[in-house]
Amino acid sequence: MASNSDKTSGDLSVTGIHKRYGQVRALADVSLTVAAGEFLTILGPSGSGKTTLLKVVAGFETPDEGDVRVGGRDVTDLDPAQRNIGMVFQNYALFPHLTVERNVAFPLEMRRVPTAEIRTRVAEALALVELTGFEHRLPRQLSGGQQQRVALARAIVFRPTLLLLDEPFGALDRKLRESMQLEVRRLQQRLGLTTLFITHDQEEALVMSDRIAVMDSGRLEQVGRPRDIYEAPQSPLVADFVGESNILSGTVEAAEGAAPAVRLEGGTLIRVAADGAVPAPGARVRVLLRPERLGDAGDDPGAENRIPGTVVESIYLGLSDKYRLRIAGGIELLARMGASRTARRYAEGDAITVGFHAADARIIEVR
Ligand code: ADP
Ligand code: MG
Repeated sequence: MASNSDKTSGDLSVTGIHKRYGQVRALADVSLTVAAGEFLTILGPSGSGKTTLLKVVAGFETPDEGDVRVGGRDVTDLDPAQRNIGMVFQNYALFPHLTVERNVAFPLEMRRVPTAEIRTRVAEALALVELTGFEHRLPRQLSGGQQQRVALARAIVFRPTLLLLDEPFGALDRKLRESMQLEVRRLQQRLGLTTLFITHDQEEALVMSDRIAVMDSGRLEQVGRPRDIYEAPQSPLVADFVGESNILSGTVEAAEGAAPAVRLEGGTLIRVAADGAVPAPGARVRVLLRPERLGDAGDDPGAENRIPGTVVESIYLGLSDKYRLRIAGGIELLARMGASRTARRYAEGDAITVGFHAADARIIEVR
């Protein structure tokens, strides 16, 4: 089933989707396309509407407005069974009384595929998820990760046009989750499966996706490649939800030289990134500064910004040290500094001068 001629994945497009549950607006004007073979992740906090969107795509919920097209076909009014979509959920939902083999065969039996072909395709699907030899086990005789691989085999065995995954690793421990993330991504790429994946875990989204759509309160906030979402968030909400962040308020001052300057509320003047349209002097802005871009100023002579402060809290994290600092005006900054052999460690109460490059301070909101 991995050969090119078998690739049946199509593109997905949802347009102008609205969905209410009584007073709750679960989806508000959601439009999105996923290209054929693309892995797109919906990332958002609990209650933001992710599962509702998936149910609308799958056909378990009818949208109040808008339409869904899969592989160019309008499926908005079709039943789930008619949409040829594979699905995996957090709670495996395997048939407990059926063996692994029968679980995976089920979608093919439903489609009245001939018995001999069922046997071949089930064997192929189990090989793809590395469960050859487990055919005759029952779900309760498998670990959580193995059960989830059976669910995955069952979702791909009928060559779906689209694969939907709703927090499929939520119940797995961290190590297993990380290996499943890579496994699923490899499988998806190998089969060229168009995939819509849901998670509230930003690291998972960054690791797995071709593109990420950040969702909040039923709306898509930003859609982009992982690097763009992380490095160029278009709103404080996205910056805050994806990664750790310092978001600083200030006022633009007249630029001297290349980098524009922003006067922070505490009085500190910082140089910020000059890319994009720089707002006029006097504009109130918010600036994003990622904690890992703040360093010990003494180690980075090229940093245009050097700010003295005091360590309020020092947290040992193994791979890095995390510091909460207070600078002029009582403003707090988060800094993450790598734990290299030569790195100096700071304790609570220590004076510190942090440095950062203008290019790493990005204006993300103008008011
Ligand atoms: P997520 O998957 O991002 O956690 P959901 O799509 O499950 O979010 O839910 C979005 C919003 O819609 C939430 O406020 C939730 O409480 C509400 N909601 C979801 N399903 C129903 C339902 N069947 N009836 C009423 N409200 C619902
Ligand atoms: Mg959900």
